[in-house]
Amino acid sequence: MSRLRSAMHKGKRAGGEVVETALPKRKKSKAAVKQASEFTAVGMHPALPNLILQAHVLEESTDASTPSPYHTFPDPADVVQFRSQLLNWYNKEKRELQWRTLAVTESDINIRTYAVWVSEIMLQQTQVATVKDYYNRWMKRWPTVQDLAAATLEEVNQLWAGLGYYSRGRRLHEGAQKVASELKGQMPQTVDTLLKQLPGVGRYTAAAIGSIAQGLVTGAVDGNVTRVLCRLRAIGADSTSPAVTEALWNLANMLVDPERPGDFNQAMMELGARVCTPKGPLCSQCPVQSHCHSYRKVHVRQEQNSKKLLGKLGRKTSELPDIEDCMNSGTCPLCPSEPWDDELGVQNFPRKPPKKPPRVERTLTCVVTRPGDKDEENFLLIQRPNKGLLAGLWEFPSLLLEEENSEKNQKRALCDEISRILGVHLTESLLQYVGEVVHIFSHIHQTYVVYSVCLKESDTHTHTENTQWLTRSALQEAAVSTGLKKIVKLYDSVDSLKEKNTKDGRRQKDSGIMENKKPQISKKHKLGAANSSGRQLSLNSFFKTVKEECR
Ligand code: SF4
Ligand code: ZN
Repeated sequence: MSRLRSAMHKGKRAGGEVVETALPKRKKSKAAVKQASEFTAVGMHPALPNLILQAHVLEESTDASTPSPYHTFPDPADVVQFRSQLLNWYNKEKRELQWRTLAVTESDINIRTYAVWVSEIMLQQTQVATVKDYYNRWMKRWPTVQDLAAATLEEVNQLWAGLGYYSRGRRLHEGAQKVASELKGQMPQTVDTLLKQLPGVGRYTAAAIGSIAQGLVTGAVDGNVTRVLCRLRAIGADSTSPAVTEALWNLANMLVDPERPGDFNQAMMELGARVCTPKGPLCSQCPVQSHCHSYRKVHVRQEQNSKKLLGKLGRKTSELPDIEDCMNSGTCPLCPSEPWDDELGVQNFPRKPPKKPPRVERTLTCVVTRPGDKDEENFLLIQRPNKGLLAGLWEFPSLLLEEENSEKNQKRALCDEISRILGVHLTESLLQYVGEVVHIFSHIHQTYVVYSVCLKESDTHTHTENTQWLTRSALQEAAVSTGLKKIVKLYDSVDSLKEKNTKDGRRQKDSGIMENKKPQISKKHKLGAANSSGRQLSLNSFFKTVKEECR
């Protein structure tokens, strides 16, 4: 595999390779000296340059952009040792994953880059275990960027259904079409062009694709790497602050192994995912423990505390050892602003700003059904807009509940919307309450208030675009969200009551529309609770075909 060198790196670093790093202190001093001598040359008072020089030096020692050596790796020998310890561990411990295999076995740089790009996008906010199957299906269906470009967005959404954060699939598709049409099928081959030319690719993703697929020498900082680096170098300020972000990227660029940048970055991520975990890190199994400031700090603190205790008991204690610490503590933009908490241990790092509470929303939704062929129930689906939350996915007719508007008014509005789509007149009394479903998005706490209505076939010709009737089996394959699947599960969970209702012969008809298909439920039915028979529905029964009275 060809190993390219990134053009983005400037400046020398440990080991002789070239990286982009913060300007070293010594360089600034030379610049100050040069400036001072220039002042002398133009006839300035000899004392003035010295004062200016002193001012420069003073400024340097508190310069926030130059981190204290405590937060970096000032000794090149440490860097070399760190790389070797980490990569030896990775050689033995790495998980075999399809995208890793493709990154080393695929000889075509375009396919390799595409394969890693897909994996990196899928892995954003999704666990490896979940991604595996999706990735394999995706690569089987669209093995090259051209194959993906030729697919429809509907097909992409369909395959992506259930993976969440649906805009990711859409952006991959958009990017593939751009590569196929504007870049003649050639994937971008620098970190900068990956970043600029591929939609949905940010600083981390560009660096990961570049290093893993193309051998570009660049560090890559994701959530796992942030945690590892913050603990290694005791960086405890808000990990999302600009000062910490830059310090972490500088560290990653300095540490990355120039011979195996992709493996090095994956090893850092693997270490964060499996050893240096957010909770309960396995420090005793850590290959780079000897470089870890937070690990050392925990042990020094323990020793200090036990000595203090002995002192209290009247034993003579020797001087407590100094805890190695940041020289700039107090003004340092990387040091924690909160005091060390012994109970947290290494988990004192990293520190994040408090999370914003998710937005609370309630949405009215209605499962509209009609009888289909062979007694199979059909569902009315509407496509969401191509932008925003769950873009392009199919959902049941829905309406966001506005606080100032009563639920009754909103129900009427939803009824009007369904009437408009189908060209029939429905009154809100026909909508039968089913229950509520809670679905948590990253930033929204969504509650779906679910109703249902069953229509006669003659009333079910759709009159608007982006609507369709789907059989239950087609619904299972369609590009729908996890929230919709939960709604179907709730809808199905009243099966036993529906059957009972049918036997009791309580079917009702009103103006040709078959209403009250769902039985009355005495209290709000919430998804997640056992159903009426007390059993929890299995996933297999999720989309089971129901043959019911709706015909
Ligand atoms: Fe993380 Fe512990 Fe290793 Fe430090 S020693 S890097 S805290 S696992
Ligand atoms: Zn500091």
